[in-house]
Amino acid sequence: CGIVGYIGHRNAVPVVLNGLRRLEYRGYDSAGIAVMNEDGLSLIKCKGKVSDLEEKINGTLKESGIGIGHTRWATHGVPNDVNAHPHASNSGKIVLIHNGIIENYASIKEALAGRGVAFKSDTDTEVLVNLIEDIKNAEGISLAKAVRSALNQVVGAYAIAVFEVDNPKKVVVAKKGSPLVLGIGENEFFIASDATPFLEYTKTAVYLEDDEMAVVEIGKEVEVRSIPSNKAI
Ligand code: GLU
Repeated sequence: CGIVGYIGHRNAVPVVLNGLRRLEYRGYDSAGIAVMNEDGLSLIKCKGKVSDLEEKINGTLKESGIGIGHTRWATHGVPNDVNAHPHASNSGKIVLIHNGIIENYASIKEALAGRGVAFKSDTDTEVLVNLIEDIKNAEGISLAKAVRSALNQVVGAYAIAVFEVDNPKKVVVAKKGSPLVLGIGENEFFIASDATPFLEYTKTAVYLEDDEMAVVEIGKEVEVRSIPSNKAI
């Protein structure tokens, strides 16, 4: 399983797909990609190999400045197209990839369902993206703050990358128990489970520690923050 993300001046589509191929050695049962371009959000995912994903994409993805991709090793929900990542929130406005396990997903899912959230998949991950959206809407806070608040309610392991359709200039990442590394280039950022997807582009890598998160935003320095602390993000 693995995650790859890109934001910057290159076309994110080949960067993410080539990155996913480099992470294939980690093992997986499904693959998916979400990108933003002049068409808005495109989210394509399927059971099978990265080559199956490429067949499904079939050259339809336009040049994109932001993209996230995932290879899944199913823990909650069988390997199929719907359970593959990325997962979008109920409104379709927040998109997330996740490696790891949300152990307390069942109680959170029940609470969200009680507030009218409809779930498409059987994954623990779809619960997390909807928890983030629920908090963000209820409290009227930034994506990063909502991600931090959600992760403080979650028990489990995760490496996540998440972005907002209405603000495709930044990606919020966080890590606990699963690996996550950032590649810092000139006006571009890479996100991955290990450095192999971006070694050809930059030598500057920032390895997140457990309980750390960061906002990766074009034109800004990456600042790593502690998830449990109250320090401003
Ligand atoms: N628990 C998540 C799922 O089953 C993520 C699995 C993974 O690490 O790929 O979808």
